[in-house]
Amino acid sequence: MSSANFEIKAYPEMWEELGMDVPRFEKARLMLGEAYSKTYLSQTNRPAKMAYFDEMISEIHGGRVKELLAAKAAGHPVVGTFCVYIPEEIVIAAGGVCVGLCGGSQGSVPDAEKILPRNICPMVKSAFGFKAGRICPYFQAVDFVYGETTCDAKKKTWEILDRLVPTYVMEIPQMKRERDRVLWLAEVKDFQAKVEEVAGKSIFEADLAQAIRVMNEKRRALQRLTGLRGANPAPISGKDALLIEQIAFYDEPVRFAAQVNELCDELAERVAKGEGVSEITAPRVLISGTPMALPNWKVHNLVETAGAVVVGEESCIGTRYFKDLIDENLPGMEAQLGALTDRYMKIDCSCFTPNDERIDQIAKEYRAAKAQGIIHYSLQFCHTYNIEEIKVRELCERENIPYLSIESDYSPEDVGQLQTRIEAFLEQIRG
Ligand code: SF4
Ligand code: SF4
Repeated sequence: MSSANFEIKAYPEMWEELGMDVPRFEKARLMLGEAYSKTYLSQTNRPAKMAYFDEMISEIHGGRVKELLAAKAAGHPVVGTFCVYIPEEIVIAAGGVCVGLCGGSQGSVPDAEKILPRNICPMVKSAFGFKAGRICPYFQAVDFVYGETTCDAKKKTWEILDRLVPTYVMEIPQMKRERDRVLWLAEVKDFQAKVEEVAGKSIFEADLAQAIRVMNEKRRALQRLTGLRGANPAPISGKDALLIEQIAFYDEPVRFAAQVNELCDELAERVAKGEGVSEITAPRVLISGTPMALPNWKVHNLVETAGAVVVGEESCIGTRYFKDLIDENLPGMEAQLGALTDRYMKIDCSCFTPNDERIDQIAKEYRAAKAQGIIHYSLQFCHTYNIEEIKVRELCERENIPYLSIESDYSPEDVGQLQTRIEAFLEQIRG
């Protein structure tokens, strides 16, 4: 798709029916289309199979929303999510759909700031603002939103969000001891009961087994994509890989996995021929930290515009979402739910204490991606990632890894300053 004929398709009648603020949303549609063309379609030597993901963006406010509405009309629960701790397998086992709600845009922040305090994480404000301003079709389509008690900003926002859309909150413990696992398993079972109630049906062993296979397949496809990015030259840009990781949160999982695998076949051919999107000498950067929700492409865009390539995201919109699988051959619901709980407890979000496995994971991903430097990215006011950054910096000092720490929000105000810092960092890698 060329930038000349790209547009985010408009569905004003459907938006009206969903109770959205249509004139306002129309402006957002045009802005997103423009930003996408500029950031994505200007890239050279993109893999041909990125066409499917371009189409997913073009239909982001229409085609996929229609699928969700059809699922809802057929009695399947549609659950909005904000965090990778949601046990998606349970929703899928009940015939339902999970959809990650965007929280990566500056456009919805002022809507949130009319109600919430200004000095909280931009992701929380952006997500809340989409509902408060009625400018997200997904938010309007969901049966309920899944929230969790990971950080203070989120858990208190759910109480206010619940006034606008039913919000179910799952308690996530802050430590990983045996007693925390007992609590978590109980929470997983409560969530199952909630989903069964909305679906009007019970989940059985065979349903859960099938859902585990579906999610494993999707995660394996994303792992394969990550593995291919370890080649030099990188066969795909970091921006495109990030886009796929973002789309992973709202696409239909079976179709998505098939498309990622087709793309990986193309990338494998590129690797075999020694072809890539950048020069072999381009600095290779791993980005680690807070998630970059759609349409937050700010840091990747700056790094790659400066001539480097991003080769991995140690993030929830990245490997934290797909690095761990669930055993597919366990007999009985109890064993399946236990394995599911164990899998989700492996997620190394900084809301846990201690969380040293994340530091080991960053070192592992750095080596696997054959990166030459790490950028730690933290959203403003995210205390847990900002403080854990100390340990990431110490890791880099210990291992002599070029390192840069960035704290930012979604506004364009710091772009110039970030550009200067990133360019200096890349010079350090180039030596
Ligand atoms: S960073 Fe933590 S709270 Fe945020 S999505 Fe990831 S697991 Fe959830
Ligand atoms: S980035 Fe940090 S503050 Fe923001 S939602 Fe995630 S854990 Fe909470």
